[in-house]
Amino acid sequence: MKTKRMQMRTALASLMLLLSLAVFAQEKQLPNVVILATGGTIAGAGTSATGSAYTSGQVKIEAMIDAVPNIRKLANLRGEQIANVGSQDMSVKIWIDLANRINTLLAGNDVDGIVITHGTDTQEETAYFLNLVVKSDKPVVLTGSMRPSTALSAEGPLNLYNAVAVAANPKSKGYGVMVVMNDEIHSAHGVKKMITTPVQTFQSPEEGMMGTVIFGEVEFFHKTYGLNTVNSEFSVAGVKELPRVDIVYACADVSPDLIDLMVKAGAKGIVVAGVGDGNMNAGTLEAAKRATKMGIPVVRASRVPVGTVLLKGEINDEEYGTVSSMELNPQKARVLLMMALLKKRSREDLQKLYIDY
Ligand code: GLU
Repeated sequence: MKTKRMQMRTALASLMLLLSLAVFAQEKQLPNVVILATGGTIAGAGTSATGSAYTSGQVKIEAMIDAVPNIRKLANLRGEQIANVGSQDMSVKIWIDLANRINTLLAGNDVDGIVITHGTDTQEETAYFLNLVVKSDKPVVLTGSMRPSTALSAEGPLNLYNAVAVAANPKSKGYGVMVVMNDEIHSAHGVKKMITTPVQTFQSPEEGMMGTVIFGEVEFFHKTYGLNTVNSEFSVAGVKELPRVDIVYACADVSPDLIDLMVKAGAKGIVVAGVGDGNMNAGTLEAAKRATKMGIPVVRASRVPVGTVLLKGEINDEEYGTVSSMELNPQKARVLLMMALLKKRSREDLQKLYIDY
């Protein structure tokens, strides 16, 4: 009898060991995702759960991960604090540091995807910059939140959970850099911040969202437009800074000397947030011509939030030496011009970049 009990105990112990080995093996099989934190409202804190006042970039990445239930069931997670700023203070230096860190991490076999926590104000610019210079087809996902971590119904934890779910999913490979917020997956090329404060701020009015992620369930509907990541010609290898590019905001009777002043201040390229179809008044158009004649490219984007700036519209680009930004809004057109200016290019070559990227 005693021997039988002992045999049963041994069998039970072996079964337990096998079970725990199986659980361990399953844990080992989880994808490895690194979260690079840069600050923003998702890491913001205020004094009241119902007040709108708060300060960005207060909460550190480990505390943010620990605040999300079940997130460690999606992936083996590791956090790194790259910066802790409101994204109004995002800089070219942080962009280059971020891109280099991502390229180093993704070059290894031990990292399957990257999540970047980021303020929403300039998130589309960082996403688009990384889309040009990340050299991997593994998923790179930016996320953030509109409500600080201390707010009633703060949406940051679910956004972070969903961003990790997208970065950890093998089917997310090859979509370029993505923005995941409010259950939606957007491409870096298409996404725009459309509304000042509500949670549905990120939209892709021309392309549409690429997919959805509902409590971690990932669905893709289509790929993004344009060249990106492994197909992009751009790189930050050895790059320490980017050429200065300024943006002129056009309006009725805009001062025609703004472009001249920017050139005088050292701008190597200008983007005009034009009226309508990338348009500007006669004086500004003449200033654009002066700049392009001096070899300073001028790109016509639009202050209108949605649509394409036509190649052959009211302005004859060949006459003024200007270039159309196509679907890129002024802030993304600026990012492409800064990267393009790392090398000398003709007007035609520049225009081709705006068509291809
Ligand atoms: N200024 C903040 C930022 O961009 C607010 C936007 C946000 O994160 O939601 O960091």
